[in-house]
Amino acid sequence: MTLDIELYRKLLLDKKKGLLRNLLEEKELSEKVGEEWLEPKDIEDLAHVTLDELSRSVLAEHELSLVKEIDIALKKIERGEYGICERCGAQIKPERLKLIPWTRYCAKCSREIGGGL
Ligand SMILES: [Zn+2]
Repeated sequence: MTLDIELYRKLLLDKKKGLLRNLLEEKELSEKVGEEWLEPKDIEDLAHVTLDELSRSVLAEHELSLVKEIDIALKKIERGEYGICERCGAQIKPERLKLIPWTRYCAKCSREIGGGL
């Protein structure tokens, strides 16, 4: 079974571009919000801002780790190791790769690990 590597390379690059765009927008947004909320009117406003910033940073963390996974997958494409499960060495099914092109494991291993990817 041969994989359409160029398709996955494109999927990975598109996803990475989207993530980086989101991260940039979030950064700009949080800078803007930061300026506006320099002098919170009361403690309720302050609490709101903190929670908002917290959830944004958690989101950014998730996106950054995804960008790293995508880079790993792109390196694998260059080395000709793309689409191979890191755990059992089996070929990962194309349907799975189309859904999550940056996955490191086949569906079976992913379930056994319980890691989500
Ligand atoms: Zn596996």
